[in-house]
Amino acid sequence: MHREEMVRRVRERAAQQEPWDIAVIGGGATGMGVAVDAAARGLDVVLVEAYDFGKGTSSRSTKLVHGGVRYLEQGNISLVMSALKERGLLRQNAPHLVHDLAFVVPNYSWWEAPFYGIGLKLYDMLAGKYGFGTSKVLSKEETLERLPALEPEELRGGVIYYDGQFDDARLLIHLAMTAAEHGAAVVNYCPATGLLRDADGYVNELTARDEETGEALTIRAKMVVNATGVFTDTIRRMADAEVEPLLVTSQGIHLVFDRSFLKGDTALMVPRTSDGRVLFVIPWHEHAVAGTTDTPLDGPSVEPKPLEEEIEFILETAGRYLTRPPTRADVLAVYVGLRPLVKGDGKTAALSRDHVIHVDASGLLTITGGKWTTYRHMAEDCVDHAITLGRLPDEPCSTKNLRIHGYLRDSEGLGALEVYGSDAEAIRTLAKDPALGMQLHPALPYLAAEVVWAARNEMARTVEDALARRTRALFLNAKAAIAMAEPVAKLLAAELGRDEAWVAAQVKEFRALAEQYCVR
Ligand SMILES: Cc1cc2nc3c(=O)[nH]c(=O)nc-3n(C[C@H](O)[C@H](O)[C@H](O)COP(=O)(O)OP(=O)(O)OC[C@H]3O[C@@H](n4cnc5c(N)ncnc54)[C@H](O)[C@@H]3O)c2cc1C
Repeated sequence: MHREEMVRRVRERAAQQEPWDIAVIGGGATGMGVAVDAAARGLDVVLVEAYDFGKGTSSRSTKLVHGGVRYLEQGNISLVMSALKERGLLRQNAPHLVHDLAFVVPNYSWWEAPFYGIGLKLYDMLAGKYGFGTSKVLSKEETLERLPALEPEELRGGVIYYDGQFDDARLLIHLAMTAAEHGAAVVNYCPATGLLRDADGYVNELTARDEETGEALTIRAKMVVNATGVFTDTIRRMADAEVEPLLVTSQGIHLVFDRSFLKGDTALMVPRTSDGRVLFVIPWHEHAVAGTTDTPLDGPSVEPKPLEEEIEFILETAGRYLTRPPTRADVLAVYVGLRPLVKGDGKTAALSRDHVIHVDASGLLTITGGKWTTYRHMAEDCVDHAITLGRLPDEPCSTKNLRIHGYLRDSEGLGALEVYGSDAEAIRTLAKDPALGMQLHPALPYLAAEVVWAARNEMARTVEDALARRTRALFLNAKAAIAMAEPVAKLLAAELGRDEAWVAAQVKEFRALAEQYCVR
């Protein structure tokens, strides 16, 4: 996957005046899922992403591949069933990235064991053949065995159930590679800047800008798909300034701690916090991640910031359940994601979590909402619509059994390189060079070889790409990531042919960004 090659293909296609079948705007889970689905059906696809792949919400999730226990309570059985099926398909198609995780709901009142016990049995049942494990009511001793860091006072027992866990940004990069392997052109740092309409008023062209060169690019397409998450309405207004907004935005934050705050391999799930939400504390990449919140916002932003009250809320709520309550000084990183919620009345937590496909009078096809877990199903639905509306060749969807790049069974022996799946061997080979076998920071397992690999094969263009999404350093330990910025900039400069001024500018830019991931 090489950026120069991708841009060259876009340029050549424009010169030939040949339209693409589908042009996708937005390189998050939704847009990349559409690119994979369409390319795997043999359609001619181009995708443009304004920043890096996964810069938006898709790298900022809770990292769960799940049916959504919470939606059961809302009675949304079909949403849960469909997500549980997708959970099973994703583990089947990307076993190197999705694994089972045990969750314990601790019970401090007499009614919680039967209440959650029955609810989670229903969750097991709805998963059917895609089940991840059987839920069970636990004694107090069994609960503490699973969650040794849990507050034992007044604890009565717990309920254990199973869901999936993944690395969101890594899956996204592997989806981009899958799309490219099926012939899609995917370009990062290439924002869509305008939409043009034909004589009948239908969108048939988009303009984009190559942020690295400033070059204006023209992309003609039979169908344009808008998959820009919380920026959905901005894109819709490019085609028609008068459209009614579809979305409202809310944000959710996560705090990351040292793994000692959550001993063992089991996640803690608090089904009802004081604001009526679910709180998870989960083991992830040898750290503990706690989240999330749901704070309505006035509008979207590219790099959302945590609110003080959100940080306090998570510290306070997690602290109530852990023997060692975490403090601000224990936070290694804070990250924020934005939810695109399809408009309605009432509180954001009650708004639809299902995906929505919307066709404007201009023919612009928008797909939004849903969740990471259901990206494949969303893409199938979207491409089915695009085929009908754009009169494209009616090929059936093939992603149910499509292996995602990196597919590898039994990748556990690979240690920290496990997430690369079948690419891990090539990274190990690179790391045989002593300069590339070097660990970039003692607190994190990342090697210089991973940065070189990311620049050569995964279209990493900046220090942020390497530290936020190709590795997850920024999300795990922001101060360590700051310390890694300079060596990483130098490695990238050597690969991408950049000079010292670029290195200095990259380090400065990354440090300013990473400060927002620190809690002081
Ligand atoms: C706090 C939080 C936790 C979550 N946890 C989970 C979870 O554990 N499991 C789960 O299944 N789901 C989870 N979700 C939901 C899931 O993360 C989202 O549904 C999913 O990531 C949305 O992907 P997307 O592609 O629609 O949006 P995004 O990832 O935001 O992608 C949209 C992309 O469009 C790009 N873009 C914007 N404007 C332009 C333009 N002009 N030109 C080109 N590109 C443009 C943006 O840069 C961005 O990369 C969570 C969501 C939140 C907010």
